Amino acid sequence: MSRQFPHFPKDNAICPLCETNADKPCVLLPIDGTEEGNIVQAQPTHAGCLLEGFRYNPRVGVIYRVVPSDKDAKGIGKAAKVTRYVGKCRH
Ligand SMILES: [Zn+2]
Repeated sequence: MSRQFPHFPKDNAICPLCETNADKPCVLLPIDGTEEGNIVQAQPTHAGCLLEGFRYNPRVGVIYRVVPSDKDAKGIGKAAKVTRYVGKCRH
């Protein structure tokens, strides 16, 4: 279980979901491939952003989120969306 922090770091980090560093509660998500022993690099991510916009598809048992594509996030192109797979529940 990730610990929640009351403030977003003031360094150069940005939330990968909303692409801002707004001062809101955040959690640290371990970054794949950065493990060294018991230490891992982490990505600050707004806790609220993690909880918004999720959908559940019972036919395939997948929880997923629809997010803007990289082009949309930079204001380029039309409002096409891509689906980012989040995970399949194993419980
Ligand atoms: Zn965010």
